Amino acid sequence: NYTLGPSITRWNAKRRQWLSQNPGFPSRDARGNPRILLVTGSSPGPCDNPAGDHYLLKSTKNKIDYCRLHGIEIVHNMVHLDRELSGYWSKLPLLRRLMLSHPEVEWVWWMDSDALFTDMGFEIPLSRYEGSNLVIHGYPELLNKQRSWVYVENQYYLHGFWAGLVDKYEEMMEKHHPGLGDERWPFITHFVGCKPCGSYGDYPVEQCLTGMERAFNFADNQVLRLYGFRHRSLTNPKVKPVANRTASPLLNKEASLKMDAKIET
Ligand code: UDP
Ligand code: MN
Repeated sequence: NYTLGPSITRWNAKRRQWLSQNPGFPSRDARGNPRILLVTGSSPGPCDNPAGDHYLLKSTKNKIDYCRLHGIEIVHNMVHLDRELSGYWSKLPLLRRLMLSHPEVEWVWWMDSDALFTDMGFEIPLSRYEGSNLVIHGYPELLNKQRSWVYVENQYYLHGFWAGLVDKYEEMMEKHHPGLGDERWPFITHFVGCKPCGSYGDYPVEQCLTGMERAFNFADNQVLRLYGFRHRSLTNPKVKPVANRTASPLLNKEASLKMDAKIET
């Protein structure tokens, strides 16, 4: 019979007490929002193919960008904390460890290394989850047998399946703008079945890497815009300055991630 460790009772009460005794570690950030810790991870060793490591780095940069813009802290784990739970199961002991070691954090948010933020303006509607302990993406009819969690989110793309999205980014840039988070401008694009760091996935590796490059540049444009640049195209790592450079950079910063700001194509 496997356990993740001793069972912990009355955690909410103990945590509340800890928070009142440690005002230097507030559970809200400077803007008054619940403190969030984004957690991701990758294997302790190198990828089978150097391109896999390159895309791991891009995926980590993408997460750092999103977290910096939204005041979220980030952990990247590269060790297996539990000998019996390795690979993708390693997130379970990790998440437990982080929850217990960071009582100041309201939400620990796991994100796969093969998932990219593609809406840099969208924020998770946390108020919807008050009173919930676990939020997952999913469809209620597929999860009907479940027991105790479930805010099951399907209103926006907390997990957007890449295959239907990566060819539509140009169309999205024509018609829509960041901040929507759904099929019009997906919050997250997840490369399920790709395994860019391993040897074999369910899709051809070239198709996966092309898709990842496009998702990365689509997101990176939303970041570069803050600094007055954009990629020449979604398949091009090179950048060029955007037309309307301004002498009022602080006004520009305010507007850049606003909902009504369209990304020039
Ligand atoms: N992962 C990890 N350590 C490992 C292997 C995987 O932290 O040794 C993480 C990584 O972020 C990955 C996630 O677990 O995206 C899911 O694992 P996997 O790649 O096997 O499944 P998939 O992402 O294809 O669903
Ligand atoms: Mn994944």
